[in-house]
Amino acid sequence: MSADVTPLRGCVIVIGAGVAGLMTALELAPRPVLVLSKAPLGAEGSTLWAQGGVAAAIGADDSPALHAADTIAAGDGLTDPAIAEQFARAAPDAIERLSRLGARFDRTRDGAYALGLEAAHRRARIVHAGGDGTGREIMRALVAAACRTPSIDILEGFEARRLVVEDNAVRGIVAAGPSGAVMLATDKIVIATGGIGGLFADSTNPLSSFGQGLALAARAGAAMADMEFVQFHPTALDVMTRPMPLISEAVRGEGAILIDEAGDRFMAQTPGAELAPRDVVARAIWRRRAEGKRVFLDARAALGARFAARFPIIAAACRAAGVDPAREPIPVRPAQHYHMGGIAVDAEGRTSIAGLWACGEAASTGLHGANRLASNSLAEAAVFAAAIARSIERAPACDLGPARNFGVTPSPSVPDAVRPILSRAAGVIREREQLRSAIGPLAALARFGSASADPALVALMIAVAALRREHSLGAHCRTDFPRRPAAPIRSRLTLAGAFADAEAVAPRSLARQA
Ligand SMILES: Cc1cc2nc3c(=O)[nH]c(=O)nc-3n(C[C@H](O)[C@H](O)[C@H](O)COP(=O)(O)OP(=O)(O)OC[C@H]3O[C@@H](n4cnc5c(N)ncnc54)[C@H](O)[C@@H]3O)c2cc1C
Repeated sequence: MSADVTPLRGCVIVIGAGVAGLMTALELAPRPVLVLSKAPLGAEGSTLWAQGGVAAAIGADDSPALHAADTIAAGDGLTDPAIAEQFARAAPDAIERLSRLGARFDRTRDGAYALGLEAAHRRARIVHAGGDGTGREIMRALVAAACRTPSIDILEGFEARRLVVEDNAVRGIVAAGPSGAVMLATDKIVIATGGIGGLFADSTNPLSSFGQGLALAARAGAAMADMEFVQFHPTALDVMTRPMPLISEAVRGEGAILIDEAGDRFMAQTPGAELAPRDVVARAIWRRRAEGKRVFLDARAALGARFAARFPIIAAACRAAGVDPAREPIPVRPAQHYHMGGIAVDAEGRTSIAGLWACGEAASTGLHGANRLASNSLAEAAVFAAAIARSIERAPACDLGPARNFGVTPSPSVPDAVRPILSRAAGVIREREQLRSAIGPLAALARFGSASADPALVALMIAVAALRREHSLGAHCRTDFPRRPAAPIRSRLTLAGAFADAEAVAPRSLARQA
């Protein structure tokens, strides 16, 4: 790929090449778009690993209203109902667009989409591909579609390191490529950099997903929303390798049950049992483990010998760990999986900075509330990619002025120092003193220009938002504030606000580093 970016001055820049970034670029065609991908195309990102599928009200017994209602129920009072309705109405079209772009979803004998069931969905509405290979198939199709679209230029191996924002409006970007830095003037940028799992010790996300887009936006002054809401998947394969392989909810959807080492089916009395919302199941497993017991997912009766055919990728991960899911229960434990919070955006994906949009897991649309409903994120990315494209078409063009140097390129980020601090403080169960004790070290790392600075500032915003929210709601569980509020409200936080809180919580820790 060429690094001569001069002709691309002024075109829309999309940062990230997962489902959110590529769908946005495709929706914008024939408008010229430059996609920056820090890794080779199709080689990195959570999209590739998505197993369960894409949720949409397609079945004869289903409706967008029911899908929206399930989304709102899972969100535990924090989901924006208007966004949920907009999303659920548009999701079936998003499936059709993905299909037209070449994604080959699994079909029934009569050619209809084969629909799976997942936790907290009242209808089977999960469109999947290759059994549990949905993400891989979507990426294959989107990469092929992007490569044959003449309006899309892709710079592989280019990492966005800084946004240039003046008077709260986008003016350009600084990126690092294989042969040095590039500076691009533009008035329209879409952040589609994915999630934050790489900031946690136990996560199902690629290690490369550590919230770089959130750091770019926060340093430029953008507001973040609901940063404290981090989803922990109940059933990651309990092994030492990182990231942890995921045992999809769809396995429980097929009837697999959770048992402890004594064989006790401990979810039996909980409403929804194994298919209760993720936060409920994750906490139940966490408690069993806190009692010193191991937990297993038992698919022997439900799937037995059919396991490998229905879930080939999961079966391979189990085999690699020495577990045969057809014959023995699979050891599982909760792990960070998804971030409901992120860059605050409106119904068109617009952030608080003019000319800056965010899409996919990096964005917080208000859809997922306090707890994401399974398989809603791929669909959300596809739905909002279309809304963002329409919004960009309507946005006025700005005069970028003469070409100029945007200054120093920040060095690469390394999240290692952040992982133990954030994991201790902001895991499945949280409480005041643990959060307070994380804030000082995170603020010190975030402020003083080390390789950990950007990852630390994202972690700091999570910890500050979690400390501020003095109740329990969805995935945010405070042992010191166990009650649920009557009328939960979404949180908003800027980097300046996070540093102000850190100053109040840990002034000495910051002073020591100065
Ligand atoms: C194991 C697993 C299973 C899942 N299963 C499902 C499922 O079945 N259904 C569902 O709906 N969701 C699922 N999810 C969640 C879903 O996959 C993600 O939320 C979604 O794919 C995020 O898409 P994205 O495009 O926002 O980010 P990603 O797919 O993570 O893509 C991010 C892109 O940004 C690039 N990037 C990052 N920083 C920079 C930078 N600074 N400069 C340039 N490029 C950058 C990355 O290289 C990558 O190309 C799953 C997640 C995991 C981890």
